[in-house]
Amino acid sequence: MAFHKVSTIAAMTEKYASDLLQVFVFDGAPVRGEIVNIRDAWQAILARKDYPVAVRKLLGDLVAAGVLLSGTLKFKGSMIIQAQGNGAIRLLVLECKENLVIRATAKLNEDIDLSALPENAGLSDLINPDGKGKLVITLDPADRQPGQNPYQGIVSLHDGKNPVQTIAEAIALYMRDSEQLETRLWLASNENSCGGLLLQKLPNMGGQLKMDDDVAAEGWARLQLLSDTVTDEELLSLEPQVLMKRLYLDESAHHGVRSFDQRPIQFGCRCSRIKVADMLKMLGEEEVNSILEEKSAVETNCDFCGQIYVFDAVDCKQIFSSSTLIDAVKKPPQAKH
Ligand SMILES: [Zn+2]
Repeated sequence: MAFHKVSTIAAMTEKYASDLLQVFVFDGAPVRGEIVNIRDAWQAILARKDYPVAVRKLLGDLVAAGVLLSGTLKFKGSMIIQAQGNGAIRLLVLECKENLVIRATAKLNEDIDLSALPENAGLSDLINPDGKGKLVITLDPADRQPGQNPYQGIVSLHDGKNPVQTIAEAIALYMRDSEQLETRLWLASNENSCGGLLLQKLPNMGGQLKMDDDVAAEGWARLQLLSDTVTDEELLSLEPQVLMKRLYLDESAHHGVRSFDQRPIQFGCRCSRIKVADMLKMLGEEEVNSILEEKSAVETNCDFCGQIYVFDAVDCKQIFSSSTLIDAVKKPPQAKH
């Protein structure tokens, strides 16, 4: 059986199309695959902050991994992956919405001389030097009610014996511990793009779809071997669909590979004036007034997109006197004549 699409075949263009997620399933084993390549959205993330090379590499891996993971979820809302620790990097964050709109940022430890970071420093050196770092995955449903908490899963960046060395390893550990799903990732990133490949072993279902367990295990091993041949160069510079066909040509000829429509990925931030107003309200009137005594206005900028928000004394007064934040941040209505 050859490759065939579940839906229409998109016209192939000469140009390498990026910012796409390709999902596929194998007929020869209960395994799901995904390939992602992100160029424009990654450039949008990099344009907003200047990261040391080693930090940029880790953030790129997290961005690719996050989109791959998001692609495995049947969930409406935002998925947030945070790698938290105590090294030169305090925090790496990737947020991906169900429509694959992403944003990401890194918070660095300003007490550490970042220019001295070796370019090949890895996750354990940068985030987890004391072995106490963790990976936190939060699922925030779009229809979350006030008072309802988002779902959160946490995994240590230390597997009990050794510190976790890569983002791919951290995500695989998380999937195994939290979802009981065996998952493997291959990730690559540079200043131009980031890309990744994911394989996930699905439960061998009962009924007619159940495969012989030996066949399923053999298939999982075979697909990992095929995937192990992927190079960073391929992950960084090929359209996901092209890479899928290249890696699993033999598999598709002998067993079959079914691919779904490629899904576009975009950069986008969901910061807003009303969210900043909400934050100021939580900070409290006393604290806000003490800032206003020193400066003429409270100014804050979004970590993800750099957008600057300014609240002067009048704006701040509004926040604490209005019954709703929408009233506090909305512009005065234009007088009608
Ligand atoms: Zn923003």
